[in-house]
Amino acid sequence: MSVVLTRVHELAEIKEELAARDWFMGTSGNLAIKVQDSPLQFLVTASGKDKRKKTKEDFLLVDGEGNPVGATHLRPSAETLLHCEIYKRSKAGCSLHVHTVANNVISELYGDAGKIVFQGQELIKAFDRWEEDAELQIPIIYNYAHIPTLASTLGDFVKEDKGAVLIRNHGITVWGKDGFEAKKILEACEFLFQYQLALIQAKAGLLASTGALNN
Ligand SMILES: [Zn+2]
Repeated sequence: MSVVLTRVHELAEIKEELAARDWFMGTSGNLAIKVQDSPLQFLVTASGKDKRKKTKEDFLLVDGEGNPVGATHLRPSAETLLHCEIYKRSKAGCSLHVHTVANNVISELYGDAGKIVFQGQELIKAFDRWEEDAELQIPIIYNYAHIPTLASTLGDFVKEDKGAVLIRNHGITVWGKDGFEAKKILEACEFLFQYQLALIQAKAGLLASTGALNN
């Protein structure tokens, strides 16, 4: 099987799993997987498709500038430049971007601080942080409508071969050395976001109930 076909299958499998989690609402989200370095080529999801559906036109091959390689009637995702930035600045082999309610609410709650920090959480290990007091910082960037500006802002935070960046009231972009690692990081982030929201709610509930008891 050619490298392209192997990668198509790999990305299709990831897409199916993320679709099962309902992480592609309103045709949002885009996924990419590297096919080769020098010259850089990667597969990316085609624009405007319902990613819960499986078709033969789900992905197309693009170059380092995000332009299609070869003739195709498919258009790459509007946010392809974000993936270009990741592959240019790291050795990542796969990058995933999804919009979920949890990542949007977290990005808004902590957006002014420019980051959210997790500590003492088992799932930080998804980022290969094994120390007991390990800290995970996920930056939160402004959601520039101008995609090249958004891409270069994200690029400033691509300092390692794996990572995650939240885009305020938009979504999350993660990357890792391959599809397995990128998906693991994405799932870990979404777990941490859901945990944080549940914790805030539980604390507020507790406060309200103790307040009611004191009255
Ligand atoms: Zn997006």
